[in-house]
Amino acid sequence: MTVAQSQLVHAAPDWRNDFPALRQEVNGHPLVYLDSAASAQMPEAVINTVAEYQRHDHANVHRGVHTLSHRATDAFEGARDKIRDFINAASRTEVVLTSGTTESINLVAQSFCRPRLKPGDKILITHLEHHANIVPWQLVCEQTGAELIVAPIDDSGQIEADTLTTLLDQDVFILALGHVSNALGTVNPVREIVAQAKARDIPVLVDGAQGVPHMPVDVQQLGCDFYAFSGHKMFAPTGAGVLYARESLLDAMPPYQGGGDMILEVSFGATVYNELPYKFEAGTPNISGVVGIGAAIDYLQAIGMQRITEYEQHLHNYMVAQLDAIDGIRLIGTAAAKASVQSFLLDDIHAHDLGTILDHQGVAIRTGHHCAMPVMSRMGIAGTARASVALYNSVDDIDRLVEALQKARKLFA
Ligand code: PLP
Repeated sequence: MTVAQSQLVHAAPDWRNDFPALRQEVNGHPLVYLDSAASAQMPEAVINTVAEYQRHDHANVHRGVHTLSHRATDAFEGARDKIRDFINAASRTEVVLTSGTTESINLVAQSFCRPRLKPGDKILITHLEHHANIVPWQLVCEQTGAELIVAPIDDSGQIEADTLTTLLDQDVFILALGHVSNALGTVNPVREIVAQAKARDIPVLVDGAQGVPHMPVDVQQLGCDFYAFSGHKMFAPTGAGVLYARESLLDAMPPYQGGGDMILEVSFGATVYNELPYKFEAGTPNISGVVGIGAAIDYLQAIGMQRITEYEQHLHNYMVAQLDAIDGIRLIGTAAAKASVQSFLLDDIHAHDLGTILDHQGVAIRTGHHCAMPVMSRMGIAGTARASVALYNSVDDIDRLVEALQKARKLFA
C-alpha cells in the first residue's frame, strides 16, 4: 500500500456508526462483518424509514382510495423514481420491481427468451457466473432446444476476452454476464463487452447484484438491455429487487406471471394487460422492501457512489496485501480489476473450519462454493473462504481478520 493509499484508508469517515448491527459483540468480540457480498447490513436511516412506513403508512398499493393506500403508493412509486435516477434509466417504465436478482433473471429468461428461442440458438454466459445467472438459462434451453455456451476464464478469474469475442457469433440470442463476480471479485469490462455484443445486435443482460453496491452504475452508459440487482446487497431489506429493461423490449414481452395489478381489465374471454412496468408486477409486491431500497439509495447518494468506490478500492487493496503476506495463504481470484471480494484458502484447513474459528473471534466471513460451483471447479477446489468489504469496513477490520487467521493457523499447526 502506498503512503497516499494508507492515509486515505486511515482517514476514512466513520460510516460504520450508521449501522446498528455493527455495534454488537459476537462471541465476546466486537463484530467484524466481512460478508456483505452475501447480504449487506442496513443503516439506521433505512431501518427507520422501513419501520416508519410499517407503523404509519402501510396499506396495499395502487388500488385504494383511502389515505394510507395513497401514502403507501407514493412511498412505493417514489422508490421507483429513486431507482430510475440511481441507475439513470431513461424512464420509470423501465424499472420493474421484483423479489431480487434471481427473479429478474428468470423473468428475462422466460418472458424475453422463451417465446423467441428456437433449437440451434445459443445463450452465452461466462464461467464466472452465480447460479442465478446459470440455472434460469439452463431451464429455458431445456424448454426450447437452445444451447448454453460458456466463455472461459483464465487462472486469475478474468474472462478470456479473445475467446468471448469469437463466441459472440450470429447464433447467440443473448449474452448474460455478471458485472462483478461474487466468488472472485473480478470486475468485468462490461461496457466494452456490451459494445461488442451490440455491434452484432446481440442483447445483453448484466447481473449487477455485486456491482450496484460498490460503484456508480449508469445503464445508458453501459448500453446493456437488462440489468438485474437485489436490495439486500445494497443496504436494503431482503426480498425486493430490480430488473432494469429497455422499454422497447419490455413492450414486446409477454407478462411473466399473471395475477392482480398486472391487468387493466379481466373477463373470462380475454384479459387486457396493464401498462409498463406494471404488466410485469403481478400480485402484492414487497412494498416495505422497495421503500427500503429507496431509503438505501438516499443514503448512498448522500455519501456519493464515486467516493464509496474509491474508499472501498483502497480498502480492498489493503486487504489483498495483508492476506497475501500470511504464510500458507492461497489467494483465489487475482484479476487486475477487482471489487469488494477476496477468496482464499489457508494451508489445508477446510474453509468451513476456518469460518467457524473466525466466528469464534467475532469475524464473519463466508465459506463454501458461494453459489458459483463452476468457478470452484475451474479453480480445482471445492470452495473458499471469502471476505467481502463494504463502505462500513475499515483497516481495523482487515487487521482483525488477519489476526484471526493467524490464530487459526496456530490452532491447526
Ligand atoms: N448474482 C450474484 C452475482 C450474486 O452475488 C447473487 C447473490 O449472492 C445473486 C445473483 C442472487 O441474488 P438474490 O439471491 O438476491 O436473488
